Amino acid sequence: MQARFYNTLSRAKTTFQPIDSSMVRLYVCGPTVYDDAHIGNARPVIVFDVLYRLLRHLFGPNHVRYVRNITDVDDKINARARERGISIRELTEVTAQRFHEDVAALGCLAPDVEPRATEHIDAMVALIEKLVERGHAYAASGHVLFSVPSMPDYGALSRRPLDEMIAGARVEVAPFKKSDMDFVLWKPARDDEPGWASPWGRGRPGWHIECSAMSAAHLGETFDIHGGGIDLIFPHHENEIAQSRCGFGARVMANIFMHNGFLQVEGRKMSKSEGNFITIREVLADWPGDVVRHAMLKTHYRQPIDWTMAALKESAQTMADWSAHVGDAAPAGEVPPQVVASLADDLNTPQALHDIHRLAHAGGRASAPSAVKAAANLLGLMRDSASAMRAKALAARGVDAAAIESNIALRHAARAARNWAESDRIRDELLVMGVALKDNKDGTTSWELKP
Ligand SMILES: [Zn+2]
Repeated sequence: MQARFYNTLSRAKTTFQPIDSSMVRLYVCGPTVYDDAHIGNARPVIVFDVLYRLLRHLFGPNHVRYVRNITDVDDKINARARERGISIRELTEVTAQRFHEDVAALGCLAPDVEPRATEHIDAMVALIEKLVERGHAYAASGHVLFSVPSMPDYGALSRRPLDEMIAGARVEVAPFKKSDMDFVLWKPARDDEPGWASPWGRGRPGWHIECSAMSAAHLGETFDIHGGGIDLIFPHHENEIAQSRCGFGARVMANIFMHNGFLQVEGRKMSKSEGNFITIREVLADWPGDVVRHAMLKTHYRQPIDWTMAALKESAQTMADWSAHVGDAAPAGEVPPQVVASLADDLNTPQALHDIHRLAHAGGRASAPSAVKAAANLLGLMRDSASAMRAKALAARGVDAAAIESNIALRHAARAARNWAESDRIRDELLVMGVALKDNKDGTTSWELKP
């Protein structure tokens, strides 16, 4: 099956043809590790995890190389470490560890390589030297800047009007700019900041050069797919392209650029000042990872997503419904072709989820549970057994299953003694805990969590 992906470079869906189908190469910009990741940061991690899983399905698990970097040198990191009175290394180690825990709980596979910026400084310095040599960069007082006018088709990815790009570039204040749009490749480090020796003195890299150097180190100068959030198109990806193409003399950096849309919360932009800023950790305290992941994948990755409590509740219901269909016994079978086809059509996850829902309700077909499980697994869902999922859902809601069972036994006794008032009281108490009882004429037979 051939996949088609929307390419931001051409603004069109194109058939995916890897450079080398024995090793498909994917790069995604990773986190800057200064604080816990928020739910908006979770979106690209989940979206590109689905892409990674699809590529592994299509080309074989050992024929895809997924690289996602960690930015561990940055102004925000320096500021936060100072604020908290801890070392930069301590801050980045702890934050990276927490990020790994968060995204694992969301069902995301670890990338094949997770390079750290601080471990690739030599490669960055070498690339900057090449850019200077080729006349695409210049040094001035400990800084090195990329010369935007030296690249005739700069801006081809974002296709922004020149004045907008100039306004965007002005945000980055740097002395010695020859042109307003020039951007920093290297800058001097203060004594209390991390710094490395370079031909331009002790300093540190700019953010954009990190990804150019690390993607080339692990995927080569030209690779298949580069992903990230839509907010990275300009200036970050535009500048990565400029550095990589001019530095390596390559026609393209990556053949396809894919970008996921924005995330807002309950109809408003997420921000600390709005008071609607949610970390992945906070969401996971209330909801199982599968529910969060399902809620994220209900919207197509290129569309903006509105993160709402209502959508989470709906996803919790759907996941409970699917796991009831699959049960504990079903092994994962073959992935139904229509689910693969939906994902191969520019990662149409809403359609794939719809396909799975139909399968779960196909009824009567003996193969349905294992097909549902296999399809859900391809989307990174239902990796746990039904009972483990139920236990996780209970734990996330702070519900103690043993306490529920003993309450049900007490209620059973009350009913046997025809003490209806006590029976109702226990039922209401369980309702407060979010547990709904299903009675039949012989007494309670089952219970479920209310979404
Ligand atoms: Zn990047």
